[in-house]
Amino acid sequence: MRLAEHDSCTGCGACAAVCPKQAIGWKNDAAGFPVPAVDAALCVDCGACERACPALNPPVCSPIRKAYAAQLKNHPAALGESTSGGVFTALALEVFARGGVVYGCVWTPDCRAEIARAENEAELAPMRGSKYVWSSAFSAYARVREDLDAGRTVLFSGLPCQIAGLKKTLRKEYEGLVLLDHLCAGAPSPMALDLYLDTICKKEDRPALNLKFRDKNPGGVGVHITWTGQQNPARRKAEHLRNPYYYAFYTHLSIRSSCYTCSYGGENRAADLTMGDFWGISKVFPDMKIKDGVSALLVNSEKGAALLEKVAGSLELRAVEPAQIAAANNLFVGGKTRRFTVPANRAAFFEVLAAHGWADAEKRFLHNRGRSLRLIKALLPPGISRLIGKFIK
Ligand SMILES: Cc1cc2nc3c(=O)[nH]c(=O)nc-3n(C[C@H](O)[C@H](O)[C@H](O)COP(=O)(O)OP(=O)(O)OC[C@H]3O[C@@H](n4cnc5c(N)ncnc54)[C@H](O)[C@@H]3O)c2cc1C
Ligand code: SF4
Ligand code: SF4
Repeated sequence: MRLAEHDSCTGCGACAAVCPKQAIGWKNDAAGFPVPAVDAALCVDCGACERACPALNPPVCSPIRKAYAAQLKNHPAALGESTSGGVFTALALEVFARGGVVYGCVWTPDCRAEIARAENEAELAPMRGSKYVWSSAFSAYARVREDLDAGRTVLFSGLPCQIAGLKKTLRKEYEGLVLLDHLCAGAPSPMALDLYLDTICKKEDRPALNLKFRDKNPGGVGVHITWTGQQNPARRKAEHLRNPYYYAFYTHLSIRSSCYTCSYGGENRAADLTMGDFWGISKVFPDMKIKDGVSALLVNSEKGAALLEKVAGSLELRAVEPAQIAAANNLFVGGKTRRFTVPANRAAFFEVLAAHGWADAEKRFLHNRGRSLRLIKALLPPGISRLIGKFIK
């Protein structure tokens, strides 16, 4: 029996899902990410987990066929609740119209992120919006199989590594399954989010926080975090450079070990369709309603193309080259591969965080020259700002 090395394990859970003896449970690593733990007393060494692990045996992937800029039409409320251009909603509504089900990520009451199941638009609503934290997907895999075996159409939206995990768990092709993944900057630690939120409110008060990343209301698309204050019910808002949790994510300090060398960001994709933000859209299509959010959309399979064709009428859709998306995003084409540098202080950050809590870790690792320079840079006109950029590591 062999599981992935710690630094390549994404926590997808395929190993635990296929184990016939339920011998694989979970423990947290030093950074607070769940990692599989084998109970040697139960393991019969059948090798099922090793075969299912996408880090050891990658799933079949397919090349990008088409790329688009996309924005949901005629559904302003849903577009307003979506992080980018709302393609997730367009695809999900078509799946509901076919009598299908949708899997996507929701907040639990204590602000953990997990993949849940929706049968209708009301259950879909909490899935909208990016939750910038590692989410757990593995408890959904068995239910996905049940839905597929019952003949339901299933749209499964998840991080690329979760899509890989689901594929390896199912072990066969299902015509009714459509897989939707993200362009992905990495998933931050649930422990980091939990300890950061401790500085805002008590655990039992978390449901009232209504935590959102990149809330568009009001002001349109931006890179910020918002929440409802405890004493004052007005929404609080902090830009990514000013908010320490967001800043730790933005500088790759708090993401999972596997994210630094992730192999899912290239032009061969595990999912049928890939969504993301169209950063740099103002240079490509300045006439699109950019403040409302524009999605980058990749079509990677015939199944993906067929579903997109069905929903094309509900989207403003403009063809682009994948390289136009890749120019400003975590998509690696033309032979490029992703290699985020592991920050030198990452291990120390998590050590202090786990031992002393968020405030100490923030003081020691997040009040630094790089952040001050970035804050100054954000206030300056583009020419001078580019000059300052040279001094930021
Ligand atoms: C951790 C993370 C990193 C990302 N990195 C990038 C990036 O580098 N570049 C980029 O262009 N886009 C990135 N995205 C995707 C982007 O933020 C939007 O989620 C995406 O463009 C969808 O926009 P939408 O308007 O179509 O969907 P929305 O209507 O906003 O729906 C959000 C979708 O994201 C899913 N989702 C939200 N949070 C999670 C999560 N934690 N785990 C799994 N699924 C989740 C939901 O299930 C839903 O399908 C990232 C998303 C996440 C969660
Ligand atoms: S199957 Fe997934 S969770 Fe299990 S070892 Fe491999 S990457 Fe990690
Ligand atoms: S960067 Fe890769 S390993 Fe990390 S969350 Fe995204 S898809 Fe998973």
